[in-house]
Amino acid sequence: MHANLPNTYQYIIAGGGMAGLSLAFYLNQSTLKNQSILIIDREIKSANDHTWCFWEQGRGTFEEIIYRQWNGLWFYGHQDFAQFLAIEEYAYKMLRGEDFYQFVIPLLKQNPNITFLQADVLAIKSENNVAEVQTNQGLFMAEQWVFDSVSVSKFNQPNYHNMLQHFKGWVIESDKPSFQPAQPTLFDFRIEQQNECRFVYVLPHSETKALIEFTIFSDNLLKDEDYDVQLKQYIREVLKIESYRIEEVEKGVIPMSDEPQLISPMPKVMRIGTAGGYVKASTGYSFQRTQRFLQRLVKDLEQPQNLKTLGNFGTSTWKALLDSVLLNVMLHKRMPADEIFTSLFKHNRPADVLKFLDEDTSFWQDIALMQSVPSIPFMLGAKGVLLSKLY
Ligand SMILES: Cc1cc2nc3c(=O)[nH]c(=O)nc-3n(C[C@H](O)[C@H](O)[C@H](O)COP(=O)(O)OP(=O)(O)OC[C@H]3O[C@@H](n4cnc5c(N)ncnc54)[C@H](O)[C@@H]3O)c2cc1C
Repeated sequence: MHANLPNTYQYIIAGGGMAGLSLAFYLNQSTLKNQSILIIDREIKSANDHTWCFWEQGRGTFEEIIYRQWNGLWFYGHQDFAQFLAIEEYAYKMLRGEDFYQFVIPLLKQNPNITFLQADVLAIKSENNVAEVQTNQGLFMAEQWVFDSVSVSKFNQPNYHNMLQHFKGWVIESDKPSFQPAQPTLFDFRIEQQNECRFVYVLPHSETKALIEFTIFSDNLLKDEDYDVQLKQYIREVLKIESYRIEEVEKGVIPMSDEPQLISPMPKVMRIGTAGGYVKASTGYSFQRTQRFLQRLVKDLEQPQNLKTLGNFGTSTWKALLDSVLLNVMLHKRMPADEIFTSLFKHNRPADVLKFLDEDTSFWQDIALMQSVPSIPFMLGAKGVLLSKLY
């Protein structure tokens, strides 16, 4: 037992990363802010370990700590398609991990009902309707819920579509002005595709500083130095920058999977964040979905009559099918991904594509959007998905 801490709380949040801290943030703004909450993470969160980007209409929850935002994005696609796309009602926003932690954690620490514990979570169990978290600092019990963002699935079940979005990015400072601060690049497919989906994005901080990230959607990772080779080559050959310093490095792997996640694997335990399947399967984006899902979760927690459907706010069957088909087309290489994304952004209003990726479009808008991509690969993809569900 941890010497200085009580062993029972109303809520325990296992993993105080993006989802865990966001949940605590919304609980702290709700009528539940007087409940005792324990947040357990193995790290003291302060490093700039993530750069979260997302699109949003109007001002959002974390507006005051948004680092940069843009109202248009460069797209360099298939067959020399190159266009600066106005995203109209949306802004593409960048939030740095360190700013998020420095904003949220001190705010939560002002609430005497919220306790932080730096510890390794070893196991999460539920016995006699009490959920327990076993850590290397002792055992803690939750009377209401344990919210678990540490038990991430392996995403390797057969009969599902499991891809990885893996990337490495550098924040570089160039000797000479090299970037247009108002003009980020969302997709640059002008790199060797190697029969995968490969692109670079460039998010400028200033005329001399930008985050440049080399990204792949595939089912296998590269060696660390291979990402570096690609970054160096892009900076030299596409951006034509000769002299620069690497100021920060970001690396990550995000599951892109249609494998269903067990939201509540045992009584009084609910998975959230990547562990709860919050990542949008076909894009790997999850920051905004996590905010939306957790705001709703806290509203439902405030209303005990909603407890039956608690946590079940995922994707509709139709939207999940669209994700699976896109994953199937990419995994089985039915059509090069640069051609798919080029078709989508070339033939539709860019803001509608963002709305579609956010699952905010109607069935008929989805059908209209799908008509802008070649039908045969997607029909084969749909057939592949249906067959995988049958066998
Ligand atoms: C580098 C990177 C960049 C990303 N960029 C974007 C983006 O631009 N836009 C977007 O929408 N999505 C992005 N994502 C995807 C997603 O938004 C992030 O992965 C997000 O951090 C997921 O939130 P989470 O709370 O599930 O996981 P995390 O934020 O990783 O939080 C999990 C926490 O659990 C802790 N932990 C894990 N295991 C244990 C244990 N056994 N004991 C104690 N603590 C433990 C970790 O220290 C961590 O703090 C990115 C992902 C990565 C990796």
